[in-house]
Amino acid sequence: MDTLKERLRQKNMRMTPQRLAVLEYIYVSKTHPSAQDIYQALLPKFNTLSLATIYNNLNALIELGYVIEMTYGDAATRYDYKEDDDVHYHAICETCGYIIDFSLEELDNLSEMLKEKYKFITHSQRLEAFGQCYDCQSRTRKEKEMYD
Ligand code: ZN
Ligand code: MN
Repeated sequence: MDTLKERLRQKNMRMTPQRLAVLEYIYVSKTHPSAQDIYQALLPKFNTLSLATIYNNLNALIELGYVIEMTYGDAATRYDYKEDDDVHYHAICETCGYIIDFSLEELDNLSEMLKEKYKFITHSQRLEAFGQCYDCQSRTRKEKEMYD
């Protein structure tokens, strides 16, 4: 939380209470929430809140560079806090929707490599792994055992 407040102060950012609440929820929860999740979580705090307001705030936060949007075909779009320095990647469970944050040292020098080798300027990089989380694997195994 401190780093978020600090970052807002440095950028001299003024935000409406709702916009700040949306950003704080994404930052603190670390669950990569959907717009619906954020709406449900903040409704008790702001009785005038609507899902449309959540979307407006999310779009503004994306434009400001605080939030990234993660779209997965038919599944609901999820949102994540965008760190200034700490880059991380995602492993997404297609069964339950759980998202693991991970980093990989080998990928830290990707933009340097692209610049050196191809004169390519990187502004962001994305890596996503799709599959099944450990909990879902054991659930699937148990269900199989029951029916076998
Ligand atoms: Zn899962
Ligand atoms: Mn993440």
